[in-house]
Amino acid sequence: MNSKDLYEESKVLFPGGVNSPVRAFKPYPFFVESGNGSKIYDADGNEYLDYCLGYGPLILGHKHPAVLEAVRDQLEKGSHFGIPTEAESRLAEKIVDHVPAAEMVRFVNSGTEATVNAVRLARGYTGKENILMFDGGYHGANDSLLFDSGGSKTPGIPKALEDSTLVAPFNDLEKVRRIAGENELAAIVVEPVMGNVGCIPPVKGFLKGLREVCDDINALLVFDEVITGFRLAMGGAQEYFDVHPDLVTLGKIIGGGFPIGAFGGEKEIMEEVTPEGEVFHAGTFSGHPVAMSAGKATIEVLENENTIGRTSSFAEKLAGLLREESEYPVNQIGPMLQVFFREGDVRNAEDARLSDSDKFKRFHRSLMDSGVFIPPSRMECWFISAAHSSKDLDNTKNAIKDSLEEIGRRP
Ligand SMILES: *Cc1c(COP(=O)(O)O)cnc(C)c1O
Repeated sequence: MNSKDLYEESKVLFPGGVNSPVRAFKPYPFFVESGNGSKIYDADGNEYLDYCLGYGPLILGHKHPAVLEAVRDQLEKGSHFGIPTEAESRLAEKIVDHVPAAEMVRFVNSGTEATVNAVRLARGYTGKENILMFDGGYHGANDSLLFDSGGSKTPGIPKALEDSTLVAPFNDLEKVRRIAGENELAAIVVEPVMGNVGCIPPVKGFLKGLREVCDDINALLVFDEVITGFRLAMGGAQEYFDVHPDLVTLGKIIGGGFPIGAFGGEKEIMEEVTPEGEVFHAGTFSGHPVAMSAGKATIEVLENENTIGRTSSFAEKLAGLLREESEYPVNQIGPMLQVFFREGDVRNAEDARLSDSDKFKRFHRSLMDSGVFIPPSRMECWFISAAHSSKDLDNTKNAIKDSLEEIGRRP
């Protein structure tokens, strides 16, 4: 079956034909059949260079041999027990070694679950309820954090939760200070680099400022490093920017392509979690052996090869080309980037929303026609994997030049 037929079928089975909304794009999404290294292959016989990488987890690219071997070895032993396995400690010790704030961790099955539990823990530990987050921040399908400056992002969230979540613009420390002065906060939750409104790095001093505010008011600083963890640096954005959060949430890369999440922090806080403490957390699949093995194999490759350095320099070259060839602002940090079809710098979600979404769609379509797949939304960022070669870089540069030719080089 080709993608069109598969989509007709899936529309009957799933709302909108997909299992996550970003996957639906017009006229219909292609259906992927397989992936290998930097490339994916669809049901219509097309090959694409993949800059989506499963929305971030596949930092080593598709089917990395070390990951496949680790997963096969684990499958031979059994897939799931719900009883402790050594595999959990082997991945946890990697995280504890590399991520400064994580003295102890607890594994879950998604980034969503990680932020749900981090927020519950912050509330349980501090005895306070209000959470401050940032406009455009995405922390998974977490009822406590599905808000932006306009209020709730979705029907179905109780007013009481809305009342306990405050929203500030990213990179606006003054506003944060004001809100923190007027409300009892349990925590400030932030993506240290915004990765779900395109790519928006923090301005100098912003993250350090959040740390100071939290210290002043006895609130916990929670870094949602589901994207930035093991990507900006082995120790994530907290290492990159040298700012120490109280709690960290991880996901994506640490599962090596399998469903995972984790939350961690210093011992004193983490020991509040059940059964040591009283803040509830549980999960049938938590610490799933296959995800543990794939995650450990992935981190070992990151330790032994300069993946972060190489993917970052690849991203820098793409950003450089986009800047040379067009007048659009391009945000890039480490192996994350996005171009915004508008004038002027993008420093917060409102700036990102003012970019031209039609132009982005045409750019996306045109890149696909040249065999390059970037995430189909201007609110995501492009990811680079270890498997992306210098030949891939050249092909991508040519595709970008052609696409800019088509859509125009200035706002
Ligand atoms: C992807 C993401 C999540 C949610 O992770 P899921 O595994 O999709 O539930 C949370 N926070 C950030 C910053 C993310 O990018």
